[in-house]
Amino acid sequence: MIKTEYYKDLTKMNTFGMKVKARCFMEYDSVADLVDIEFAELARPVLHIGGGSNLLFTDDFKGTVLHSKINFIEILDECHSKCHFRTNGTSSEDVDSSDSGHENAPEVVLVSVGAGVVFDDFCDWAAKEGLWGVENLSYIPGEVGASAVQNIGAYGVEVKDVIHRVYCYDTVEEEFVSFSVEECGYGYRDSIFKNPEVKGRYVVTHVVFALSREPRPRLDYGHLRDAVLSALPADSITETESLPSRGDGPLPFMRPRSATVSADAAQQVKPTIEGTPTHSDTSSDCNFDRTQRVEKSITPALIRKVIIRIRKEKLPEPSVVGSAGSFFKNPVVSAEHFARIEAAAKAEHGADYNVPHYIIMPECQCVPETPSHSVGPSPYPGVGKCLLHTNDTSAGRGDYSVKVPAAWMIEQCGWKGRRSGGAAVWEKQPLVIVNYTGEAYPEEIVGLEKRIIASVKSKFDVELHPEVEHV
Ligand SMILES: Cc1cc2nc3c(=O)[nH]c(=O)nc-3n(C[C@H](O)[C@H](O)[C@H](O)COP(=O)(O)OP(=O)(O)OC[C@H]3O[C@@H](n4cnc5c(N)ncnc54)[C@H](O)[C@@H]3O)c2cc1C
Repeated sequence: MIKTEYYKDLTKMNTFGMKVKARCFMEYDSVADLVDIEFAELARPVLHIGGGSNLLFTDDFKGTVLHSKINFIEILDECHSKCHFRTNGTSSEDVDSSDSGHENAPEVVLVSVGAGVVFDDFCDWAAKEGLWGVENLSYIPGEVGASAVQNIGAYGVEVKDVIHRVYCYDTVEEEFVSFSVEECGYGYRDSIFKNPEVKGRYVVTHVVFALSREPRPRLDYGHLRDAVLSALPADSITETESLPSRGDGPLPFMRPRSATVSADAAQQVKPTIEGTPTHSDTSSDCNFDRTQRVEKSITPALIRKVIIRIRKEKLPEPSVVGSAGSFFKNPVVSAEHFARIEAAAKAEHGADYNVPHYIIMPECQCVPETPSHSVGPSPYPGVGKCLLHTNDTSAGRGDYSVKVPAAWMIEQCGWKGRRSGGAAVWEKQPLVIVNYTGEAYPEEIVGLEKRIIASVKSKFDVELHPEVEHV
């Protein structure tokens, strides 16, 4: 079924809560309905929205807004290395897990999810199924279709890490196409679908995710490990135990932190290749039992619960305070430019002051929140330290660039918590501009955005660019 409405109020369809209307709004339930839409006939421009959580409507929309209600979650197959599954109910396809970067995945569970599914409902479903992969992405607003466009990320995971294939309708050629992860050209909150040359051409119909039944907690981001540890049931861990330092694989064996077990005894407990401990004495047996208890207690559901709690503490709840999450991208500057920023900050705050930053080496393609690289703790979203390459900079080579948290710059310019008409900078996270009164006009949000950009430019000689899409 296709529902068409004219002069549709979009206030509840964008998380910023901008009171705007769409000249034409069309919502479809299925792929068959999508094919029935005469794209060439639609009032232009055409915009496909999801939950409207990365959009800032600056005016009424003069063309057609489309929205998908393709809502299904389906396990296609559980496989070890190679499996056979059906796509879209019409054709079948061999899937070699090696073509998606999941070649080492011990037990891949391919799950097909409709573009209109609320992404967090999918995370909730996966957690309840005991499936690993999207738990760190819990509570990110928006829908599954847009998640594949945006390459959403949080707490050390990007959705590209678990995407197997993205299925789309090509509105120009009027045919179904699909893209492997490599073909999607994912970058930091980026994909080919955002490329101006093809933007709007491909409508995501569903996404196939590669999840896993094997435990693979990713806890290296910020204080997540500590938060998960403290959320564990009391009988599964004692204060002498700690979680392993890297979380991007099956949990390695846990070694006791205290002196209750001698160094010799601890040394006899050697991890095997699979991370399963061998143990040779009674104290090791005891540790092994405790480790197993801890491992069993860490579930996707537990990580999800902890992340939801942290996010609720930090970020505005869209149903209460309108926003689109992080408003600006984190800027990247040259090493020389960063040295100037750092010198000025030390002059202002004292010689011991450290500017939060993230080194990007020329040969290093690491991006913030990418689990393949060890990212040190940082309170700023999308900015951590690449521990792999940080040391290289001490050689003074100067051929690296530096990512500086936009939130830090905005705070340094005195914007944190400041209001401007109905708009404000969120007190707990200055990267977020909010519709503070619920009645803010788009001009007030844009006005605040411009003033922030101007003051960051003036203080740091850095141009901030919005992450939020202006419509
Ligand atoms: C409070 C808050 C916190 C946030 N935290 C995070 C975070 O931690 N990490 C993060 O990455 N993002 C975060 N965001 C941003 C936002 O949630 C994501 O960008 C999300 O993916 C947007 O999804 P959406 O469905 O709302 O898409 P929309 O905002 O409606 O659209 C986003 C883009 O996707 C396109 N699109 C939507 N659906 C389709 C489709 N079916 N086919 C083709 N194109 C489509 C749109 O045209 C648009 O270009 C946050 C936002 C808020 C409000």
